Amino acid sequence: MDCPCGTGCEDCVNGKLEITDCPLEFLTWDINQVIMHSDIYEKGTPVAGTCQLDQTQWFLSAHHFIVAEKAFWKKKLRLF
Ligand SMILES: [Zn+2]
Repeated sequence: MDCPCGTGCEDCVNGKLEITDCPLEFLTWDINQVIMHSDIYEKGTPVAGTCQLDQTQWFLSAHHFIVAEKAFWKKKLRLF
């Protein structure tokens, strides 16, 4: 797989990464749940209650972090 660095870094060899395990295996169950709920929230369904103000602050912070990371990596990997 192409490394996002493009030319070579400490994590790859000449811009190529070798994937030997499922990346999802590195995520714990709770992190997987937050990412799943962030995706659902992004599509318009609140996780708790019925509106934006019902969401907990930690979830909103996590959601904004996840949205920013997804945008960063989509741009870096030129997936737009
Ligand atoms: Zn690299």
